[in-house]
Amino acid sequence: MVDLGLCNVGYNDEVRLLMVMDKILYLEDRVGIPVNEFVTMTMHMTIGLSPPRLELANTAGEVQAVIDDSRWIVHCPNPMCNGALYASRDLPFFCCVDCGSPENGGLWYKVVYPQDSTAIEIALLARPRVAKLKDGRLVGRGWDPGQTVDDLVQENRELGIGD
Ligand SMILES: [Zn+2]
Repeated sequence: MVDLGLCNVGYNDEVRLLMVMDKILYLEDRVGIPVNEFVTMTMHMTIGLSPPRLELANTAGEVQAVIDDSRWIVHCPNPMCNGALYASRDLPFFCCVDCGSPENGGLWYKVVYPQDSTAIEIALLARPRVAKLKDGRLVGRGWDPGQTVDDLVQENRELGIGD
């Protein structure tokens, strides 16, 4: 995970972060440059490589975006890598800055979002960042493809949050 972190932020940064906290964040909410520029810069710093230019000929395969703690992210599919990156809303493509995605020939994956992503975001934003269900399970603002919007709404009802 590339974490730009909350340390060493100035007052204006803190205000900006507070203003964007009540949404599910995309890469664009954290960095001011397109994903291909961000990946190129970061991959060069982390492993000294550069991804190919982001164009159709340099894409292969798909990865699913998931939500982790109020962030749309992509987990690197490379079984030898534990990397993850914020998912891009504007340019939904992923190439891992931690490993260069050798399992995908170093090419860009297309990032797939669920069709009901807005409903998922609304259900998650209705709840606190962490809450405990009756059975003791902790739930938060996370989603993976195994969950439906109805699942999230049902959890919210259990937390006393109506729809
Ligand atoms: Zn990786």
